[in-house]
Amino acid sequence: MNTRQACEAVVRTAVALADQGYLAGVGGNLALRIDAERFAVTPSASDYYAMSPDDICVLRLDTLEQLAGHGKPSVESGLHAGVLKARPDCMASVHTHQPVASAFTLLDRPLPMQGEEARRLIGEAVPMCAYAPSGTSWLASNVGKRIRPDLNAYLMRNHGAVCLGATLEDACRVVRLLEQEAIAWFQRALNAQPESRLHQRALHCLEEDPQ
Ligand SMILES: [Zn+2]
Repeated sequence: MNTRQACEAVVRTAVALADQGYLAGVGGNLALRIDAERFAVTPSASDYYAMSPDDICVLRLDTLEQLAGHGKPSVESGLHAGVLKARPDCMASVHTHQPVASAFTLLDRPLPMQGEEARRLIGEAVPMCAYAPSGTSWLASNVGKRIRPDLNAYLMRNHGAVCLGATLEDACRVVRLLEQEAIAWFQRALNAQPESRLHQRALHCLEEDPQ
């Protein structure tokens, strides 16, 4: 994949994820490895629907030096670079603010994967990385410490998720599966509670989720 193709793929994928509600406005960001030294990343706080391949930032993996792109690189560029360096088998790193998995990050616990496809593509349980403010090296470090070769999703406390894949398509599949597993977790938790109006309303909201 050349640089142009990588930037086009990042734009296409960002729009698709925004369409599905996984980025929440201008939140979230994604990175795609171009080669051993460079990666493409979405620009900071940009409207995904107005973005062109020329806006996508091309950075060095080791120093984050910007080599191309009109935009200012995402504040989570350091997080993505750390993840891509720790997982040479992954080409793509997608950070989402996906609704239900992000709600789960209010809880301080890992999210177990129950479905067969989720267990195969993500791993046994998605860990909860300790809280740190967005865009800090502290957050990149908290996620970096949890990276394992057999885990393709990570939750960040009070924030969102990082999903990995051998390709951008695989990373997006991880995003969708993670959301489904978070919805299923809340449904199980609510079903374990005594009947109540809150229980009924929450179940109704989860069933209305477009996923
Ligand atoms: Zn974020």
